[in-house]
Amino acid sequence: MSEKAEKSQEEFHFQCPVCKKGLISIKKTVYDLPDTDKMLIIKFECNQCNYSNNDIIPLTTNFKPGVSSLIVKEEIDLKSKIYRSPIGTLEIPELELVVEPGPSANFYYTNVEGILLRFQNAVSIYKNNLEKDDPQIGEIEELLENIQKAIEGKFKFTLKITDSGGGSYIIPQNKSNYSFRAIDSQEI
Ligand SMILES: [Zn+2]
Repeated sequence: MSEKAEKSQEEFHFQCPVCKKGLISIKKTVYDLPDTDKMLIIKFECNQCNYSNNDIIPLTTNFKPGVSSLIVKEEIDLKSKIYRSPIGTLEIPELELVVEPGPSANFYYTNVEGILLRFQNAVSIYKNNLEKDDPQIGEIEELLENIQKAIEGKFKFTLKITDSGGGSYIIPQNKSNYSFRAIDSQEI
């Protein structure tokens, strides 16, 4: 189910808008996702300076309802792309992170690292608002330590997105760490 085949690849070059010396290469790749959906990945990279950029464009949006899971074990997994639709629930059980769906829920269009950084920020703000002798402090500090380890690729965890509408997806860096389980309407 998690097979992702490279469909086509083209390269173009133009002058770098940042350093004006290097050449930007644009690499376009169409990925076939499970259930015949397609995704266009555009990568810009300068051969002189550090400028680089990535864009992911879903070419079809009718993903099947289901649970996408990614096991994050090492640094490379942190670069896996994540898109959570407003009706998707994002969870990292090992870090007690749950992002519930809702009308005000933000779209997540980032990578695993981006999610961890947002979470770290939210937990830090929460901690700073606690009284110094709050009994929760110890627990929160331990959580922050684990989030930090996770950002460094030193804490193994599972990132799960449950989406009853099928709009969410994960593009794994390492396919063998990814799994998808379709759910039917009775289960929802
Ligand atoms: Zn450049």
